[in-house]
Amino acid sequence: MVHLRYLGAKHRYVPHWTDGTRAQQLNAEVSADGTVATLHLPAGQATVSAQEILASDHYGALLTRLAANPETQRLTLGQSHDGRVIEAVRFGRADAPGLVILLGRQHPPEVTGAVAMDAFLVALAKRMNGNPALARRFQVLAVPFLNPDGVARGHWRANHGGRDLNRDWGDFSQPETRAVADWIAGLPASVRPVAMVDFHSTRRNLFYVQGESETDEAQERFLQAWLGGQEQAIPGYPFTIERRNANPNSGTSKNWFHAQYAIPAYTYEVADTTDRAATASAADVLAGRFLDALNEVAP
Ligand SMILES: [Zn+2]
Repeated sequence: MVHLRYLGAKHRYVPHWTDGTRAQQLNAEVSADGTVATLHLPAGQATVSAQEILASDHYGALLTRLAANPETQRLTLGQSHDGRVIEAVRFGRADAPGLVILLGRQHPPEVTGAVAMDAFLVALAKRMNGNPALARRFQVLAVPFLNPDGVARGHWRANHGGRDLNRDWGDFSQPETRAVADWIAGLPASVRPVAMVDFHSTRRNLFYVQGESETDEAQERFLQAWLGGQEQAIPGYPFTIERRNANPNSGTSKNWFHAQYAIPAYTYEVADTTDRAATASAADVLAGRFLDALNEVAP
């Protein structure tokens, strides 16, 4: 029997027992206030995890697969506290003026957001490679595994510096966030960010976008071109669009990129329990619409 006591958090995920051949859902007795969960473990050797484990070997394989196309470049942006590499891929040409930034796994357990990001990247690569007109106008920097130490160490939110990375944008006190900011700061002046999407997981499928008072006409057109009318249109993937007027000093990537560059900056949140295949096929559809929206609206 194992008691989990959550400090500053509540029980969120159904634990799974994975013995190498199969994953079995474990029942947890959860206290009324959600802060203690008791698990009864079967006999034997296994891994107990909340979600499927997508860690460094998964991302190594993903980046290798994406970078197998000669038009995609694999980049090392920096190192984590533990010395793990912060890697990225770039689609599009290095001199393309419009830069899209995609971020993933700031929060270690948020695996459904990662499932969406994987499919989103594969879909973007498919559409951008072999499309020289698009690759001349836009480049995409994708950093799908921004908190490798947190994932390796089984952290709930923080990196190995004890910081929630999605509260560090602007401070850049951590090597992981700094790696991305430094890379952008080193770009030629002719390259400017045009959009940012950060992939996460929560209880429902939703997009956090700018609030009414923070958006301008071009950003509103981008939002409508990308997500407008899609809330109930994708099979198995209903979602909502949540407008948030936000404090630019909150330290989230969404608010920092929006405040810094006056661009659409969104959080792509996938529910913890959404079917993985539906998540991936929705991300494929939304990646296509994302490029269409860029084409139509971005400068
Ligand atoms: Zn998150």
